[in-house]
Amino acid sequence: MSYKTSFTIDELQVTTDNQSNPIWYISDYNTGSIQLHPEQGFVANQIYLAKALDWLFDDKEIHVEHADEPVVIPIRKAMCTRCRGKGTMANPAFDGTSIEWWQEHGGPDWQDDLDEYCHGDLYDVPCEYNCSGGIAWSMDWQRIIHYHDLYKINAMTDRVKTKEEDEANEWINELYIEIQDWHDGEAEVRAEQAYFDREWAI
Ligand SMILES: [Zn+2]
Repeated sequence: MSYKTSFTIDELQVTTDNQSNPIWYISDYNTGSIQLHPEQGFVANQIYLAKALDWLFDDKEIHVEHADEPVVIPIRKAMCTRCRGKGTMANPAFDGTSIEWWQEHGGPDWQDDLDEYCHGDLYDVPCEYNCSGGIAWSMDWQRIIHYHDLYKINAMTDRVKTKEEDEANEWINELYIEIQDWHDGEAEVRAEQAYFDREWAI
């Protein structure tokens, strides 16, 4: 996967949670359907590191040290993107099952069972992201957008670029790189795992 060398605030995409609150996200990891998991996983990982390495953090931001450079990661509580705010999720053990499978393995009520699996929560398991009832820590892109938009309008030039705007652009690029690095590392771990799983299966 190749990445752009610079990322701008205008490239953030927006969706809404089940309360119609906006959720901003980077679309690079999302092919087709919106999957916001990477950023939520990233924040969970940084909170874990902050606790382990004694980094400064509160419910607004994490002060990360990466390659001797301090980076502030803005965070907020938002709808969990794995279970979409439900707190539970469909059991992954049933992923990829077909109607034929249900017909074959189910009892006489297999149609009701399949309906329950698709629309109910009888087969649900706790959310694998360990969110708290469908609420989880996520990136607070809104804060950077707000910071970025504190520009001044001048009658003569109509718009003057401010220090805040430059800093916001720099900030979002730092965060973009942090998330990329983390995402690449995760991809490596997943690939290795898949390799060992295959070896094991032979
Ligand atoms: Zn969840």
